[in-house]
Amino acid sequence: MKIYDFLIIGAGSAGCNLAYFLNKYNRSVAVVDREGIAGGASGAAGAFLSPLPGKKNSYNSLVNEALEFSLEFYENLLDLAVNKKGVLRVPNSNFDKEKLSYEGIKYKYLSSKKLHEISEKFMDIEGYFYEDAAVIEPIQICNKLTQESDFFKKDIKELTFKDNLYLVDGICAKNIILAQGVSSSLVSMPYMEISPIFGLRVDAKTTTKVPFNIHKNISISTNKKDNTLSIGATHERHDGKEMECLTTCDRCSFYINNEQTQIKTLLKQAKELIQLDNLEVVKIYKGARATIKSYFPVVGKAVDYEKSLKKYPSIKNGTKIPPEDLEYYPNLYVINALGSRGFVFGPYLAKILTQNIICNEPIPKEISTQKLFYKMARKN
Ligand SMILES: Cc1cc2nc3c(=O)[nH]c(=O)nc-3n(C[C@H](O)[C@H](O)[C@H](O)COP(=O)(O)OP(=O)(O)OC[C@H]3O[C@@H](n4cnc5c(N)ncnc54)[C@H](O)[C@@H]3O)c2cc1C
Repeated sequence: MKIYDFLIIGAGSAGCNLAYFLNKYNRSVAVVDREGIAGGASGAAGAFLSPLPGKKNSYNSLVNEALEFSLEFYENLLDLAVNKKGVLRVPNSNFDKEKLSYEGIKYKYLSSKKLHEISEKFMDIEGYFYEDAAVIEPIQICNKLTQESDFFKKDIKELTFKDNLYLVDGICAKNIILAQGVSSSLVSMPYMEISPIFGLRVDAKTTTKVPFNIHKNISISTNKKDNTLSIGATHERHDGKEMECLTTCDRCSFYINNEQTQIKTLLKQAKELIQLDNLEVVKIYKGARATIKSYFPVVGKAVDYEKSLKKYPSIKNGTKIPPEDLEYYPNLYVINALGSRGFVFGPYLAKILTQNIICNEPIPKEISTQKLFYKMARKN
C-alpha cells in the first residue's frame, strides 16, 4: 500500500492550495472530498479577489497582503482562469466615502459623469476604482492546483492512527490536514467554533458590456470568457440547531425553498448599479462559508483541547504555557475559517502552513490554532 506524506481532507480552496504547495516541496499528497474537487463553498464562489480598504488594522493588512500574493500566484498558475480588470467599489453603509478613499490602497475616484463616459449603462452611481482586483474561475483553479496529487472521492467518517501512520478509508498517510470548511471536524477542536454563512450566486447572460467588476452590497463581474457574468452573493447565517453542515447547500432542506427570493434580491441590487440588457440567469450556485467570530482564518497544528487542559489546568487561570508544550493530535494540521475571502486567503495561507510544516517557520499569532485555544481555555 502506498504511504502518502500527506492526506488532505477537503478539496476546496484551502485543501487544493495546500496540496499545490506541499507538492512543490516534493511531498506526496492524496486529497479526498465527498463532493469532488471544489464541490463545497469553493465551487460556489464568485470568485472575486478585491482589496479591503479603510484605515489600516491587522485584519485588512492580512487581507491586502494575501491579495497581493494571491493575484500574482494565480496569474502564474493559470493565466487563462484569471480576469484582472479591477473593481469599482460603490459606497455603502459599511464602506462610506471616507473609508473607501483612505490612502492605504491605490485607487481612482470615478464620478457619475466619468462612469457614464466609460459606459452609458451605468446607473447614477459614483465610486472608487481599485486596479488590483480580479475575478477567477474557481473550479479550473482548484483542478489545476491538485494536478500533481492523487484525488479520491470519499466521505471520511473517522481517522485511525496506529504505528505512527494514519489509515483513513483505505488510504495510508504520515500526516493529515483537515480542510473541511463548514463540515463537522473529524477531531474535537472546541476552540474553533465554525459558523456557516450561506450564500447564493448566479452566472447570467447579458448583452451589456461590463467594463470592470463592480461591488456595492453584492458584486457583478466583468464579462467572462464564456460570455456570462457572475453576480453574487447573498449572506445568510445558519443559526438553527438543525444546521449542522453534512451535505451541500443544494440538498439542504433549509435552503431548498428560498432560492428564487435570493435570486430576485441579487438581480435587483445588480440592476441598481448598471443596466443589464437581456439578462438571463443560466446557472445557480450555493454554498456555505466557514467563519469564526474574529473573522481571521485559522492554520496550524491541531491542539488537543482536553489533553492540554488536563496537563495544565492552570491555563484556565491565566498561567502562560508556551505553545510548544501544549498537547497536539499527532501529525494533524488544520486550515479553515477562510470566510468570504477563501480565494484571496487560499494560496497565502497554504504557503504559510507549508513553510511551517516543512521548514518550521512560525505562523503569525493572529491566525494560529493556539490563539483560539488560549482564548477559549481562559474564558472557561
Ligand atoms: C456564494 C459564495 C460566494 C463566495 N464568493 C467569494 C468570492 O467572491 N471571493 C472569495 O475569495 N471567496 C468567496 N466565497 C468564499 C469561499 O468560497 C470560501 O471561503 C472558500 O471556498 C472556503 O474554502 P474551503 O476549502 O475552506 O471550504 P470548501 O470549499 O467548503 O471545502 C471543504 C470541502 O471539504 C469537504 N469535506 C468536509 N468534510 C469531509 C469529510 N469528512 N470527508 C470528505 N470530504 C469532506 C467538503 O465536501 C468540501 O468540499 C464565497 C462563498 C460562497 C458560498
